Amino acid sequence: MIELSQEYSTIIEQIKEIPIETVFSRYLPGTSFKRAGNGKHRTRCFQHGGGNEKDASLFIYENTNSFYCFGCSCGGSVVDLVMLILNLDFSEAVKRLADDFGYELPVWTPETEEKRKQKEKVTNLLDKYINKAHITLMTNRPGPEAAREALHKRGFTDKDIKEFRFGFDPRNKPDNPEEAQALGLIGDKGGFLPSGRIVIPFFHHGKPIYLAFWDFNGKEPKYLYPSGVVKPLVGIDGIKRAKEIFLVEGVFDHFTLIKEGFNSICTLGVNLKEDYYNNLNNLETIYVAYDADEAGRREGFRLTESLFPRAKLIEIPGNVKDINDLLKTQPGEFKTLIDEAKDNAKDALDIIFNDIAKTNNGNEALTLFEKKVIPLITKLDIIKQDIAVNKVSKLLKPYGIKKSSLDIFIKEMMAKNKNTNNDEEEKEDFQPCADFPGLVDIVEDDNGNPAFLVLEDDNTLTLCTSREVDGIIKIPPDKEAIPWLLPRAQEVIRYFKSDNDSILYDDLIKYHKNISELPDEKFYDLFVAWDFHTYIIEKLNYSPYIWLFARPERGKSRTGKGALYVARRGVHVESLRDSYIIRASNDLKVTLFFDVLDLMKKMEKTGTDDVFLMRYERGAKVPRVNFPDRGALRDTVYYEVFGPSIIATNRTIYGPMESRALQLNMQPAIKNFTNEVTPEAALSLKERLTAFRARWLNKKLPEVDKPMRGRLGDITRPLFQIIKAIKPEREKIFRDLINEINKERKSKKSESVDATILKVIDEISNKIEGSYVYVDTITKQINNILNDEKKWSNTRTGIV
Ligand SMILES: [Zn+2]
Repeated sequence: MIELSQEYSTIIEQIKEIPIETVFSRYLPGTSFKRAGNGKHRTRCFQHGGGNEKDASLFIYENTNSFYCFGCSCGGSVVDLVMLILNLDFSEAVKRLADDFGYELPVWTPETEEKRKQKEKVTNLLDKYINKAHITLMTNRPGPEAAREALHKRGFTDKDIKEFRFGFDPRNKPDNPEEAQALGLIGDKGGFLPSGRIVIPFFHHGKPIYLAFWDFNGKEPKYLYPSGVVKPLVGIDGIKRAKEIFLVEGVFDHFTLIKEGFNSICTLGVNLKEDYYNNLNNLETIYVAYDADEAGRREGFRLTESLFPRAKLIEIPGNVKDINDLLKTQPGEFKTLIDEAKDNAKDALDIIFNDIAKTNNGNEALTLFEKKVIPLITKLDIIKQDIAVNKVSKLLKPYGIKKSSLDIFIKEMMAKNKNTNNDEEEKEDFQPCADFPGLVDIVEDDNGNPAFLVLEDDNTLTLCTSREVDGIIKIPPDKEAIPWLLPRAQEVIRYFKSDNDSILYDDLIKYHKNISELPDEKFYDLFVAWDFHTYIIEKLNYSPYIWLFARPERGKSRTGKGALYVARRGVHVESLRDSYIIRASNDLKVTLFFDVLDLMKKMEKTGTDDVFLMRYERGAKVPRVNFPDRGALRDTVYYEVFGPSIIATNRTIYGPMESRALQLNMQPAIKNFTNEVTPEAALSLKERLTAFRARWLNKKLPEVDKPMRGRLGDITRPLFQIIKAIKPEREKIFRDLINEINKERKSKKSESVDATILKVIDEISNKIEGSYVYVDTITKQINNILNDEKKWSNTRTGIV
């Protein structure tokens, strides 16, 4: 195989990703396309008809970003397109595209050009061979007719055969042995591989790269492949535009999926080389759909495990052996069955959980946990990790294993993994990091990977994949370790210059109004000021809890999520686990949305109450004993927990927590909201807010007095500062809102003495023996709730 230099190939691959419609409109302005289904569009061919041919035989393919004309057989990538339109040779066309679309090319040497020409020669030969074999297949003679019949039986019509350019080569020896050798058509033992087989071509960006020869009479081996050519990963030219893709082993499974409009990558056999894993990096979901035989099942699971958590294993429905069989036996149901199979697909962890649930043997369950579950769990972000630990602890409960010991076990394993990884990197100090001075945020770069966006001293933005801070090279955390949707770098950079804080404020008001009905218009201003404050939290001294309080079905979750998805680094939490709340706060500086039915009870149960009490104030740290064996004073680690939070709960919150929160009693909604609240829908606002952060990172907020005395004034002052800085005309409205909240609080307080006692009696009702309660018990419980604030005496309780 002839390979161009790595650097050059990479740039060319990037250039080949410039959308083909854009290239058409740039060099052939006015070209109009008609939709032709499944990501195809057609137009009149500029090449053989001068734009006037009747049939519109030229197709462009969104998936592979390529074109092909069924009239004159011209086709290929955007480079081939520019070569034809502007009558340039390959290197000129690449250079032209690079200049026009802003790519920088490495120096083009005569050696590169020589290699490139040789490669082009082979490609042209291959193209000719494929065309000839295709024409042969379409003729009406007994051999080709039998071959076509075999393809029809597989579910492919003549139209499909034409589309995929399948061919047939009846010859037993080549006409031109030299050419056949160049194409790899001569086998290791000197035989001519095609010999009466169906020729199946594979393309990359519209140019042929590989072949398979299928013996349709069932002779073994059924498939032969060119000799001396590295097996490619077929179908990866469609990957850039796909979020999800099927990974199949069989040639016809691949074409079946493509024909039905799914994205597919084919490994041509059960082995996917690890070198190829990188090609799959940007995909969100990989459905592994290997055959239902032993090898297929085994390798399918192995891949699902290696590509965890993005890979899911498809169970092929309907007692058939592969995807192509499904099309043959139930052609009308194919799409539905595939969609159902997608819904039922399981990731490696689910599959292992099933195995644990099935076994009755404690030792076996534990071995599965240790050998299979742990390595997978350590790949998950902290939220998903928690869910998985909960599940597995239920499965292991019958064997007397407690959740707390699982937690410790996982922590130890992760620490161990970290150490071995460090050894591999030969002690290079790359430290994953989510926070350092000047960091605007972790963003997604053009390749979908996390990167740092940094504000420099001269107020310009730099996008980088590492940054030296105090002699240590910091790198962004892995994508899998980030449980929120990252803002895209280019969008943030664009908004940094073009956006305006006051307009952004208005758009955020609209956004929240589109999500929920709040008890009062003024609350929208509160939400928007709160949104902004999450982005400059390190400049502020306090962060008030937004507390959404209501019975179920009043849109609490919807409202909370709406705010969370525009907030900086928003993470949704439905169960409280001390270690992950602390880690998310300390390491990732997240905004948290606690969506928990009875928050106060859960806080006590999980020992997270100090986090909640402290989190609203800058500098807050909570101690945790992590290394008991180190002895007193050395066993404790302090974690920073300051950060923004939203709380949604069905039960009331009381004690010191109450004074740290701004309460919203959600009313039954009159309006019926049908739009979905998703991170994606909020992404562009998030990107604009990230740009807002960049604009303000080196600036000072205006000084303001507390808008109210006491704690309420402390927690609302930061929001007031923001209003003053970016929307001064809303200052009065905001002040009115704080006054109203204050009045509400006062009226509540007068009821609260009786109420507190009643609440406590309710709380401790399980401790009541007989029909009376000791005053002392109540007082203790009240003082528990009141924490460090004014303690009650027994006399006071007694009087009430
Ligand atoms: Zn044409």
